[in-house]
Amino acid sequence: MQKFDFLDIFYRFTTRDFGANLAFHVGDEISAVLANHTFLAKKLGYKKDTLVHMKQIHSNLVHIVDEQDHFDTPPTCDALVTNKKNIPLMVMVADCTPILFYDSTCKAIGVAHAGRAGTFTNIVSNVIETMKNEYGSKVENIFVSIGSAIGVCCYEVGSEIYEESKEKFSYAFEIRDKKYYLSINKILLSQLQECGIKEKNIENEGICTACNTQEYFSYRAEGKTGRFAGILMLK
Ligand SMILES: [Zn+2]
Repeated sequence: MQKFDFLDIFYRFTTRDFGANLAFHVGDEISAVLANHTFLAKKLGYKKDTLVHMKQIHSNLVHIVDEQDHFDTPPTCDALVTNKKNIPLMVMVADCTPILFYDSTCKAIGVAHAGRAGTFTNIVSNVIETMKNEYGSKVENIFVSIGSAIGVCCYEVGSEIYEESKEKFSYAFEIRDKKYYLSINKILLSQLQECGIKEKNIENEGICTACNTQEYFSYRAEGKTGRFAGILMLK
């Protein structure tokens, strides 16, 4: 789904057929992963070496990207922002949620990797606050695209997670057969709303990666697997 049609950005969520696994830490040969990146860059029309990806650590840390960042120096963080043109930002996922941010007025962008930890510590708010502070963004001008991730149908969590977070996020849990299932998507939408992002400015793909492994990588459904990506660039 690509609801938004902006002239000055390029954005895309990849699937398995976009050059397969993009992550260096999942056991694939480095040369094979590099080849996948080269293929993807060619297919989507950007320069591979200018792309900035992340060493993702399930934090809520945001890194501000400038011309010094490039493909071979991924910062350790879970979100990136920039107002520089022609620097594609990439978030990699397999069940966690990839989120893309675009301020159409200030011409600034951001990407975030929202796993459970990053979501519980409100990484989307950190991205939006950083865009406000760094680029003068106003929330009413920010558009958000939420990519596919594991759904509440498949994302079972332990009772300890339910116990420790039910006060804050009770609305996001489903209990079926005495098992606890969590909707990260519901939390993200709620957090975006709290930040003041307009509903019409949010695109929500909402496909469960674990139910759709023919198209997406799913850590839960497959164990050792690859990563697909959300990519966003200012043109
Ligand atoms: Zn599912």
